[in-house]
Amino acid sequence: GGQGYLLVHIRSYGEGLKLVLSQDITERERADTMRRDFVANVSHEIRTPLTVLSGFIETLASLPLTEVERKRVVDLMMQQAERMQGLVADLLTLAQIEGSPRPASDRWTRVDQLLQRVETDAAGLSRDRHVLQFDIETNGGACEIAGVESEWLSAMGNLVSNAIRYTPDGGEIAVRWTLQPEGGAVFSVRDSGIGIAPEHIPRLTERFYRVDGSRSRETGGTGLGLSIVKHVVQRHGGELRITSEAGKGSTFTLTVPAARVRMR
Ligand code: ADP
Repeated sequence: GGQGYLLVHIRSYGEGLKLVLSQDITERERADTMRRDFVANVSHEIRTPLTVLSGFIETLASLPLTEVERKRVVDLMMQQAERMQGLVADLLTLAQIEGSPRPASDRWTRVDQLLQRVETDAAGLSRDRHVLQFDIETNGGACEIAGVESEWLSAMGNLVSNAIRYTPDGGEIAVRWTLQPEGGAVFSVRDSGIGIAPEHIPRLTERFYRVDGSRSRETGGTGLGLSIVKHVVQRHGGELRITSEAGKGSTFTLTVPAARVRMR
């Protein structure tokens, strides 16, 4: 098998190679562990709503319910189905982004349309429960960024939906878009929400990493949002920066390196 082969090589080539090979194995083991963890996580995330759904189906099938009770059960079933739909949608987005390592280099996205969508989605999610503030200058529709609109919408939309989900009613959410004088642009979302303790910040973009699993699920989270954001930004050569203070709020900042203002 492969392992015997490795041992022969270690003996015949000495210490230097042993080091290289063992690093190689560790790398592969890590990849294997990550894959196993991922499959386990996905299975768990799907099994939970399925179990709940089965319970509700059983209730519907076996108990005599009033019209009001029946409606309540059906609403709860709908919520669980939506949760699974959200998870599958996020998994597909991740797979799509990871499957094509480089974004199309000749595609440009109009920033005014993109941010208009982000704003409309934000209003729909918040439903007037928060103070939403948009501070956006798009040079009369002439500003464009490199990349496909759906990817950027996914990245920016995830940051805004997180800000809304992790900010109690009455809180403030400020979205900004700023062109940098030296080129490129910065997109930021600041919220006055629950914030994040410093030890969690470096791990937030890991798939399925959550500070508080039950709160995240309750508010419709899949645990994949920030890993999608990170992938989108990285493959466009940008950066995601997170600053936060527990109990006070958070700021998520995307740098977008390739932005241009079209001349008319
Ligand atoms: P989820 O679907 O769980 O929100 P994400 O990948 O989008 O998954 O975020 C990972 C975790 O980061 C969340 O579960 C939450 O604990 C934390 N988080 C993300 N955004 C915010 C925010 N604006 N304020 C506080 N915590 C946040």
